[in-house]
Amino acid sequence: MTGSLRSVARWVARQDDGVILELVCAEHPAPALGDPARTVVRAATCLAEVPAHEILELFTAGAQTVVVRRDECAQPHTANALLDAAAQVLASTGVDRLHLSGPEQTAPEQTGERRTLLGRRRPRAPRQSRREVLDAERMPVPRRQVLGLGAGSARGLADEYAPDAQRLTTALAALLPPSASLPDLLSPAVQLRGKGCTACGVCVRACPADALTLRHLGGSGDEANAALLMTTLVQDPTRCDGCLACVQICPEDVLTAQGRWGWDAVLARVATPAPAPVASLSTAQCQRCRTRFPTTGAGTLCPVCAYRRANPFSSRLPVDIRP
Ligand code: SF4
Ligand code: SF4
Repeated sequence: MTGSLRSVARWVARQDDGVILELVCAEHPAPALGDPARTVVRAATCLAEVPAHEILELFTAGAQTVVVRRDECAQPHTANALLDAAAQVLASTGVDRLHLSGPEQTAPEQTGERRTLLGRRRPRAPRQSRREVLDAERMPVPRRQVLGLGAGSARGLADEYAPDAQRLTTALAALLPPSASLPDLLSPAVQLRGKGCTACGVCVRACPADALTLRHLGGSGDEANAALLMTTLVQDPTRCDGCLACVQICPEDVLTAQGRWGWDAVLARVATPAPAPVASLSTAQCQRCRTRFPTTGAGTLCPVCAYRRANPFSSRLPVDIRP
């Protein structure tokens, strides 16, 4: 994947603890200059295109400190809003391991001066030693692995198929102290309300992060009662990235976003999953087609089957009951 740090995380996982990483963008003009104690990694793209969760996962892989170098970026403070938000969360809890450097922090100190041809004095930058720059997509492979003597340790590597938002919240939760409190900081996850929901499941299928689920609780289990159940649409805020695809696609136009979840509530759910209810309604299972439908009146058939039974020769369904 373009901009991915997966091989960097693999490399970090095989190093001793305490690696200090410095990430630079693909077009940084002088990545080799700087603090020799840091391992410099050049990303394949602009750092704005590197997902925030991949940077945070470098910590779970074993990095002690990560410096994201933006000193040559044209827009250093708008480069990656999600990463800035994560840095704010960490800073507010006293975790000093993610540094987003800007021009003001990395500009070389002016320690001397020299004369120009016109005799004016000009500041002189200090001498800096050159460092090896590793390529994020071609990280060195341990000799043992090349010789087929084992892959070595690969601690802390995140599930690369999990939703991005879930990877971000999991990595953040692992970094924060247990007593961390974030009362005023908002996460990207949106709070949803679905008054009038018919449990059609369209939003569940549309959510790219698998953050929505329809749950059916109660019912006797016998065929006659087939089941009057309480159906609840629930949201997992740890997976939601606030894309609003669910709100836009709801065919009943009843799903709305009511602001954002606070980081406090989201991160608490990483350790103790607690899906949040979005809408609840009583449903029954159609005795003919077995789909579940809202119990708005008497009858054991869903609106479609009830219409077909009442109109066996009709070839078209009325618009209001089309599935
Ligand atoms: S919120 Fe809308 S799309 Fe989602 S299950 Fe309810 S009616 Fe269907
Ligand atoms: S806004 Fe809706 S569709 Fe988007 S991730 Fe959140 S729950 Fe899923």
